[in-house]
Amino acid sequence: MYKPLRDQHTAKNWKELVARSIQTADQLQVLLGQGIPYLENIIHRYPMRINEYYLGLMESTEDPIYMQCVPDPRELQQGPGMVDPLAEEKHSPVPGLTHRYPDRVLFLVSNECAVYCRFCNRKRKVGRKGIVTPNTIREGIAYIKANRQVRDVLLSGGDPFLLETEELEEIIAQLRDMPHIEIIRIGSRVPCTLPQRITPRLVRMISKYHPVYINTHFNHPREITAEASRACALLADAGIPLGCQTVLLKGVNDNRETMALLMRGLVKMRVRPYYLFQCDQAKGTSHFWTHPQKGVDIIASLIGHTSGICVPHYCIDLPGGGGKILHMPTYVEAYENNALAVRNFEGKRWRYPIYEFIANKRERSWL
Ligand SMILES: *Cc1c(COP(=O)(O)O)cnc(C)c1O
Ligand code: SF4
Repeated sequence: MYKPLRDQHTAKNWKELVARSIQTADQLQVLLGQGIPYLENIIHRYPMRINEYYLGLMESTEDPIYMQCVPDPRELQQGPGMVDPLAEEKHSPVPGLTHRYPDRVLFLVSNECAVYCRFCNRKRKVGRKGIVTPNTIREGIAYIKANRQVRDVLLSGGDPFLLETEELEEIIAQLRDMPHIEIIRIGSRVPCTLPQRITPRLVRMISKYHPVYINTHFNHPREITAEASRACALLADAGIPLGCQTVLLKGVNDNRETMALLMRGLVKMRVRPYYLFQCDQAKGTSHFWTHPQKGVDIIASLIGHTSGICVPHYCIDLPGGGGKILHMPTYVEAYENNALAVRNFEGKRWRYPIYEFIANKRERSWL
């Protein structure tokens, strides 16, 4: 029987917390007091790491924390899904950098994370050696420098905050030196999975290179703790705008109540919900997938019912590299004679009158 470990970790700093993570089948089975079929095989294929902090949030072997970080035999099933669902490799001019949209690039600068999420769309890469090397980082920086149309760089991974502060600074400083780079964004799950990593020193370093935006990743209200709030407050106080990219996960957060609590909890920490992602169709993650209508229903349950800043965009990243599309509820039912037929957030029918302000017929031919 698993006994929750909340607040029992005694590690002094984030590096110790990472070093003491649960990473082997034996460690996990002793901790849980139960076996998991094929655990060795799963971990061999897709590494496991659960640090003591995140482990401390787990209360039972069925809960949303457990589901996100403990390997599941279904990961090895011959189910649907692709190794590289977003065709990132196909759009990589140099290894570790994806240039899909005209003015911005995704740049992998770390292959480690504080916890390896079982639903990760980069399951093929995280926790493996040789994916991000000094060479790939050098080549990525050279590519960005040579491509003046890039004005926004997203540092991702893995988790950029698993790098040493100095290593990360070296990358950020080089980007800030390029006149065409307007903004730098960092994608990190650390405020959620290892808030101890957000130290005053890290925050001071980042704030030298503004504008730097951070998009973090929380999936469940139980992840919103005093430690996570402290980490987000440090970042927000340093003038770093915070966003959140939540993943819609079956059995974890695929219902209205959980999502509303999560979104409100984020806003209280000064984190603005940015995207709610449909779970990417990565091989070994199909047990987390939901019907796309689920996401639309959840968003519709938020719009109008709670603050607008609590509503993220529901986003599907198309398999095969088509890019992101938004799948949002529609309120317009029809264009009628001089009116829009709509439903409001309560489902009530309304008409919005359209007046003839536009003289030129051609301009309104799209109607
Ligand atoms: C998601 C993503 C981005 C950033 O998209 P935004 O909608 O600007 O947040 C950039 N490049 C790649 C390859 C991406 O997958
Ligand atoms: S933190 Fe992000 S990159 Fe790392 S395993 Fe989780 S989802 Fe994947």
